Amino acid sequence: MEHYLDYAATTPVRPEAAQAALSAMTEGFYNPSSRYAPARQAAQRLEEHRAAVAAALGARPEEIIFTSCGTESDNWAIQAAIRAGRHRGRHIVTTAVEHSAVLEPIRALEREGCSVTWLKPDRSGHIAPEQVAAALREDTVLVSMMLVNNEVGTLLPVAEAARAIRESGCPALLHCDAVQGFLKVPFTAKELGVDLLSISGHKIGAPKGIGALYLRRGLKLSPLMLGGGQESGLRPGTEPTAQIAAFAAAVRAGQATLSQDLTAMAELKEYGLRVLAAALPQLKVISPGDAPHIFAVTLPGYKSEVLVRFLSDRGIYLSSGSACHRGKPSHVFAALGLPKPWLDGALRISLSPRTTRADLDALAEGLAAAREQLFSTLS
Ligand code: PLP
Repeated sequence: MEHYLDYAATTPVRPEAAQAALSAMTEGFYNPSSRYAPARQAAQRLEEHRAAVAAALGARPEEIIFTSCGTESDNWAIQAAIRAGRHRGRHIVTTAVEHSAVLEPIRALEREGCSVTWLKPDRSGHIAPEQVAAALREDTVLVSMMLVNNEVGTLLPVAEAARAIRESGCPALLHCDAVQGFLKVPFTAKELGVDLLSISGHKIGAPKGIGALYLRRGLKLSPLMLGGGQESGLRPGTEPTAQIAAFAAAVRAGQATLSQDLTAMAELKEYGLRVLAAALPQLKVISPGDAPHIFAVTLPGYKSEVLVRFLSDRGIYLSSGSACHRGKPSHVFAALGLPKPWLDGALRISLSPRTTRADLDALAEGLAAAREQLFSTLS
């Protein structure tokens, strides 16, 4: 029996999405740029899919550009915003807990001469709106802040950042990496007040290899690549119609059951925290998460990599941090200023509405067994 508790890393493809992809790859295989009837139909379906994704973000279809993934959306948004603002300044505000898809392009810009203010979270993983307001300068051209942190599940004050930018009068564009927030916390792009917002398909039941960037109407940005003029000339390359069809199907399905799903995940998370606390008095909660699907705990005295392997042998799958770290210590847990034994034993648990209480019971039993069978550096 498998117990998958790593939905923030990726999700299984929903049957509706797989079906939509199959149909787009077979009977609907045409190139949407071709001019004959079935190709024009493919182009029309593409626009319907764009409208479905846009609707889920409270956006207009023309504000959605399909990309290959969240990482591409983040890189494009950041580089294009800096290029657009180059005559006004070179200062960036971001947080120390962003995903590498934001951290790395900003670090690269810092090496090229941009000045960067890295906002530090408090011990609970939160950033205060006043920190954003205090960091803004006349030459700030980009603020990039994620909506939901992928390792600790905290919500960041994106709408408040938008307000602070408006009030400061600085020329900054606001980018939000909403990859972990999309269909996990209710929001629209307008409510957040963002200029740019990234989402990714594989976190919501679509296949890997599809994402989107919301680009506020009226905002002119340069493309990352040059080519055949697809996606209004902003993201050239023959459209991946199968992935887009699957993305839209997953979005439609996710939206249809959104409020029940959010309640189910919040209840499961509470249950998980309860059974873990009951089974392991030594376990510490790093973050209960504001979002319903992610929380982080630690077993001080144990190494999370060893725990992950021990649990994996019992069919229980979770992460010691973001799956993207590949064994390196998590910069997010480190940014919280946790004591070393807490950092060493940190685990991220992430849920879906299809997670069961049995999955969480198995985790609690697995960790209790690990505590008995593994050597603790604290004992
Ligand atoms: N941003 C966040 C917050 C994420 O969690 C991830 C994936 O883990 C990404 C960006 C990157 O998305 P993708 O895997 O689609 O490139």
